[in-house]
Amino acid sequence: MLTKRLVNGVGVAPGLALGAAHVVRSGSGSVPTWSVAADEVEPEVQRLRLAVEEAALELTRQQEAVASASGEQEAGIFGVHRAVLEDPGALKRAMETIREERINAEAAVQNLVNRLRQTMQSMEGESLRSFSADFTEPWEIVLDYLMQKNRERILSGASAVILAAEELTPKLVTYLAREKILAVVAEKGGRFSHGAVLARSFGIPCIVGLPNLLARLEQGMQLWVDGDAGTVQLRPGKEDVDLFLERRARRETRQAYLQLHAGLPAVTTDGEELEVEVNVESVRDLETFSKEHCDGVGLLRTEFLYMERSQFPSEEEQYRLYRRVLEHMDARPVTLRTLDIGCDKQLPYFQTPQEPNPALGWRGLRISLEWQDLLRVQLRAALRASVHGSLRLLLPMVTSIEEIRTVRTVFDEVRGQLLNQGYDVAENIPVGIMVEVPATVFTLETILAEVDFISVGSNDLVQYILAVDRDNSLVAKLYDPYHPAVLKALSQIALAARAAGKPASVCGELAGDYATALALLGMGYSGVSVAPNFLGEIKVAVRETSFADARNLAGSLCHATTSADALEALQSLRRRLHTRRLASETETGGA
Ligand code: PEP
Ligand code: MG
Repeated sequence: MLTKRLVNGVGVAPGLALGAAHVVRSGSGSVPTWSVAADEVEPEVQRLRLAVEEAALELTRQQEAVASASGEQEAGIFGVHRAVLEDPGALKRAMETIREERINAEAAVQNLVNRLRQTMQSMEGESLRSFSADFTEPWEIVLDYLMQKNRERILSGASAVILAAEELTPKLVTYLAREKILAVVAEKGGRFSHGAVLARSFGIPCIVGLPNLLARLEQGMQLWVDGDAGTVQLRPGKEDVDLFLERRARRETRQAYLQLHAGLPAVTTDGEELEVEVNVESVRDLETFSKEHCDGVGLLRTEFLYMERSQFPSEEEQYRLYRRVLEHMDARPVTLRTLDIGCDKQLPYFQTPQEPNPALGWRGLRISLEWQDLLRVQLRAALRASVHGSLRLLLPMVTSIEEIRTVRTVFDEVRGQLLNQGYDVAENIPVGIMVEVPATVFTLETILAEVDFISVGSNDLVQYILAVDRDNSLVAKLYDPYHPAVLKALSQIALAARAAGKPASVCGELAGDYATALALLGMGYSGVSVAPNFLGEIKVAVRETSFADARNLAGSLCHATTSADALEALQSLRRRLHTRRLASETETGGA
């Protein structure tokens, strides 16, 4: 029956997709695990054999290279590693795991590595235990080889896939090249988590809150993902596919209409302007929107540029990246946010300690201030790039005015150093802060005197005002951006910025909803920064509304006693815009 094949979840990025599932289960460590169909078991075993042969060949090549460069003795370890791979017992165990547990070769090898490690660690004697790596390392080479091949297999496949996983993480969304992902669906994950942020920035539909989904999926199963409704249809039939195609055609018509209007400024019918900028996570994002359609980059999340690398990017690499973004945007401002790692944004090469409460722990600016070399390198690269466009600097997770002052001191030192070394640096580089921590809301008046602009990171601000972890699906229902406390804070921030004569924008995800963007304009915000695919809807909505209406909407939101009231006010505005649109389409014979 149709309903049995329909799984309901929470849509966290809009859009429609139809395609084959690629199931990724993160088992122990970061090795993906998926179940293998009965007729795929032997090919999977074969894949393992091949990987072992390739790894052994690689070890031989390394042995020869080291022997000729440094001598036979130094090269001896490669021979030992090859002998470990040639042990038939270990290979047999991994093959049995594939056959018995019906899982992929990568997961079977990871099981083997874990078992080898346990056995070695339980042995008596430190010297014996120290050999542990010699037994596991060769199998880790096999693992790397398998993972690389799997990725290549999907990347070289003709069609893109729908990623299905237990948990929506940034790592999952960046697992494949973006042109190979049609959609992401996950059993768990927060609507405002960084995985969701990335999916929205890729412009692909994403759904979370799909319990037990993976148990119902097979590799390659056809899925219809509806990010608007938050549903996943398993094995869609012909009627479903027809419906999908019809809805997709309608969507495309709307997108074409939005594209036509996206180049116009976001000015209300009575002349009030909202700056509409974009959030950028990767240089590849620059290809997803036309720079003429936005007022600049309101948030360049530099940590994702770091995450795309296997070690800290050097000053030169960062300089080239930032320069590329600045040059691409011409004179439009680029707001470069300094490194904001911690919580779910981890760098594979920079281990931060396990923390019981990571959202309240070592993250964002706190890391940059403790590891000032990181900050200095990033600032040097940014300041050197500043002459290639219009640069603004944005500091994440600010809690106190002292932090801003410390960064200002480092900034001045770096600038002086660069000038001494003969580099050119732009005259005026505005420095702003993210308002994400309630402490900055309460002290905004004094903070505003020391910064050039502010940008509200509502994703974090909501979690800190409501004491609800944005990444914890157990409390996802309590994460409510329209809670009266949040709306009051948003309104207070805008008022304080207006009073200080400083620009204030919102770059958190809630600004991507066009009705909310109108409310923010009504509250007094000068701009919003959103994922590129929301640009068109926001601009069209602003152009269809009066500032008076935006102010009324803001008033309703600020006076709402429950989030349901606030949502109703937003919905009523959407209805009005929709009715007006239909009326004008009837008049003009369609958009
Ligand atoms: C925010 O917190 O709203 C924000 C824009 O920063 P991030 O989502 O990267 O934490
Ligand atoms: Mg944040």
